[in-house]
Amino acid sequence: MPELKVGIVGAGIAGLSAAIALSRAGHTVEIYEKSHFKNETGAAIIIGCNGTRILREWGFDFEKAGAMDYNQMRRIRADTIAIDSVDHFTNMEEKYGDRWLLFHRADLHAGLRAIVEAQQASVKIHLGTSVADLDAEQGILKLASGEEVQKDLTIVADGARSELIERVIGRPYPVNKSPMSIYRFFQPFEKVSTHAAAGQFFENQPSGFTTFYKTEVVRLGLLLTAYPCRGGKLLYVGLVHPTKPSEKELEEWDHPASYEDVISSAEGFHPAVQAICEDATDIKVYRQMWRDPVETLTKGKAILCGDSSHLMLPTHGQGASMALEDAIAMEVLFTGVRSPDQAIARTDLFNQFRLPRVSAVQTMSNKMMGPPDKMISEVRRYYDGAVPGLKAKTFSEEYNDFFFSYDVAQEARNLVHGR
Ligand SMILES: Cc1cc2nc3c(=O)[nH]c(=O)nc-3n(C[C@H](O)[C@H](O)[C@H](O)COP(=O)(O)OP(=O)(O)OC[C@H]3O[C@@H](n4cnc5c(N)ncnc54)[C@H](O)[C@@H]3O)c2cc1C
Repeated sequence: MPELKVGIVGAGIAGLSAAIALSRAGHTVEIYEKSHFKNETGAAIIIGCNGTRILREWGFDFEKAGAMDYNQMRRIRADTIAIDSVDHFTNMEEKYGDRWLLFHRADLHAGLRAIVEAQQASVKIHLGTSVADLDAEQGILKLASGEEVQKDLTIVADGARSELIERVIGRPYPVNKSPMSIYRFFQPFEKVSTHAAAGQFFENQPSGFTTFYKTEVVRLGLLLTAYPCRGGKLLYVGLVHPTKPSEKELEEWDHPASYEDVISSAEGFHPAVQAICEDATDIKVYRQMWRDPVETLTKGKAILCGDSSHLMLPTHGQGASMALEDAIAMEVLFTGVRSPDQAIARTDLFNQFRLPRVSAVQTMSNKMMGPPDKMISEVRRYYDGAVPGLKAKTFSEEYNDFFFSYDVAQEARNLVHGR
């Protein structure tokens, strides 16, 4: 029986993951990516056990990608440098069966690309190829060159500023811009860990988050988070700050910022905390964006996945893990599917299966800073399973149980084959 012909728009984490999944499900995949892979966002990323479980199943090379375990979270006052709390996450494998990991985004992307390229002839990547439009019912991708390609299944993985989302949900869906933006950059880990002032925070510490925050909330949410990646060679630093007037119209992830911008935002921080930023170069600023849940993830022969459909604030570090969950759900649902009609039925099943989970995670990520009862009652509109209690904090055991105990591949198998 012939396999399905699948077209994927976008080769970010979501698009590459979908390509791996659908190739493993036995189908022929073509990816259309408008860039030339030169500009993967320079940032680090955290992948929860729910995501690393999927990477492991695909044979991802964690060592080559320089993955670091997320072993602890320390919250430190930015002005007095008094340690407020330390949480240890050393039993992840024992409890959830997999690791909680920190990556340089480019390393995660390269590791996924290596798996795509190892899928022999079943995946073809067209770089520098922009998709201008989509006919979701017919499965037609209209390339910017004017060429049209007909597919049995189309995957829309064109990211946060998706233009094709409109073709699936039937209306434009602009992003919401948060009042907060992030400066981000990397420092050589050794430079910071041996620094006379800043070294005290990193020397001989287990890998994980070190977060400095202002308790006097003069400037809501001002905090600096640092964590290692790339096998401990780099320290990623993100400084969340109120968006400045000059940053209000930013659309890109990679807008350049200056050292002066960073230091002026870290005003009032202890000199040892400011020293983490010393002589930082290649600084980028990005305005945080989010969307409320969409009403559908699918239409006809099209599936939305990744940030195109469930863009969320990075509160729980679950954006990329949701893209991985989308992908392995496709792998299970489309294995053995050979006829276009069956593919349409499975597309619909994907929507029923994924929408409650991604909408819940999106709402938890976007509304965590507001009143908890309001956030949870909104989650309830989409999701009727057990949820964390009202007092549960980000990265607490209750949230970890919610995110990490869920085995999406197993749930999808139960759905297709019965429990
Ligand atoms: C600074 C930052 C920090 C983050 N931190 C975390 C974290 O710690 N943990 C976490 O889980 N998530 C995090 N996220 C979110 C996470 O990175 C995303 O959820 C994840 O990468 C999925 O992205 P994507 O593939 O859907 O979109 P993208 O990575 O944006 O990829 C979309 C791709 O589509 C291409 N494209 C767009 N339009 C077209 C078109 N018309 N034709 C062809 N190609 C097109 C683009 O060039 C791009 O390559 C972070 C995001 C950012 C920006």
